[in-house]
Amino acid sequence: MTRRKHGLWIDGAAELPRGGKTYERRSPATGEHVASVCLATASDVDRAVRSANAAFRAGAWSKMPAIERGKIVSRFADLIATNLDDLTALEADEAGKTLAGARGEIEWSIELMRFAASLAWNIPGKVLNHEGGDKLGIVTHSPLPVIAMILPWNFPTVTLFQKLPYALVAGCSVVIKPSTFTPGTTLEYARLAKEAGIPDGVISVVPGDGAEVGETLCRHEGVSMVSFTGSTEVGRRIAALCGESLKRVALELGGKGANIVFADADLDAALHGALAAFTINQGEECCAGARLLIQQSVADEFVAKLAEKAKAMKLGGASTAGAELGPMIHDKHHASVLGYIEKSKEEGAVLVAGGGRPQDQSLAQGYFVEPTIFTGVTPEMTVFKEEVFGPVLGVTTFETEEEAVALANSTPYGLANGIWTRNFDRAIQVSAALESGFVYINCYLETIPQLPFGGVKASGFGRENGEQGLLEFMQTKSTFARLRPSR
Ligand code: NAD
Repeated sequence: MTRRKHGLWIDGAAELPRGGKTYERRSPATGEHVASVCLATASDVDRAVRSANAAFRAGAWSKMPAIERGKIVSRFADLIATNLDDLTALEADEAGKTLAGARGEIEWSIELMRFAASLAWNIPGKVLNHEGGDKLGIVTHSPLPVIAMILPWNFPTVTLFQKLPYALVAGCSVVIKPSTFTPGTTLEYARLAKEAGIPDGVISVVPGDGAEVGETLCRHEGVSMVSFTGSTEVGRRIAALCGESLKRVALELGGKGANIVFADADLDAALHGALAAFTINQGEECCAGARLLIQQSVADEFVAKLAEKAKAMKLGGASTAGAELGPMIHDKHHASVLGYIEKSKEEGAVLVAGGGRPQDQSLAQGYFVEPTIFTGVTPEMTVFKEEVFGPVLGVTTFETEEEAVALANSTPYGLANGIWTRNFDRAIQVSAALESGFVYINCYLETIPQLPFGGVKASGFGRENGEQGLLEFMQTKSTFARLRPSR
């Protein structure tokens, strides 16, 4: 494993500040030292924001024809594809992912970049001339100058690329605050962006503490918008700070997805989907199907098969060939997930798979948790209501469609839910009744870049991806013209 030193990236150059605080990152899979992370200060943030504004005003990027920006974003995507192996290894080491998981995340991000780049050929706008020809309305969209992007650790690459290529195509400058645990790939992306031809100052990266770096960005008058992905708790704080300075804010927050399996579903496909839904990225997934709602008549056999599959999963980090489930991100989060498991037992849920740390001694240095399934979970239980953010599934049975919908909607969150049925009318009706920004039908955690993504209720607001993902970073101007002025 390579030991790295991560600095800052400001005004098109890497910086290794002397003095300042550092965070020593250890592999969550093995405990080995992987990186020293230099933590930015408020004055570093100020320099990054000033550089972003100067780049915006200079116009080399913001005033470049959008199509040319799109071509450069495509080149940026090509460079990431060329460096895929190295980036995969870095992401897996720092975030504690399996190699397959890290690779899949970066490959999907490249798809998002290519889609975002294609939007440059069709920046939305409108001309209205429907009142007899002498009145003309024009709707145009222009970039917000400087976007602060504050990111979590669970998908350091995807959460960035649901934002960055769209903001770049729009013509914005950006200042990125990655999670202190996982800044490595973000710094590499900034370097590759420069190589692709994105001018200095358009992208800066300032790793550091939420309270210092994150809050300075939220308060800074040179930031036009904060685009945040992370927990609901921190999202509330960010919304309050942005409210004080009247900044635009977009919040991609936590979730507690329900995966609803009806008795008439293709149950083999649903089994595969239900396992992936709560174990993908070791459950550290905001859209995870962490609640399985299953129709009573098929529940026993379905859950027995699911438990067998969960018990057979291979745990391990980046260096374990064929690993399917990695470790939790750090010690505190590991303890938190194990705490949720203990609490579920105390509250009366019935354990049918996993339930703690794996016995395998080769995994003892890592923050691993067995894929864990509880049945008999009721809406009053903590595991039904709260985001555990680990490989823990709560199973609840239902009799009717109405009951399933009511159960699914009975959490504060509203990010993603899934439906498995062969009855498409039912699927569409249930989808309409579900309070979430995304619904999967006969699949889970699959999408296409054209579809907007985001939450409702305590999962936040704002949309990423799709055409809306571009407009998110733009401001709208209406121009009205009278063609034959009246005197
Ligand atoms: P977190 O909220 O603890 O941290 C997210 C980021 O915010 C980090 O960079 C952190 O340093 C920063 N931060 C912390 N306190 C801050 C403050 N006071 N002001 C400004 N910034 C601050 O989240 P996390 O633990 O890194 O990530 C896990 C959470 O992210 C989960 O709740 C998960 O559901 C959510 N998430 C949501 C999505 C989505 O698209 N909806 C995607 C991935 C993760």
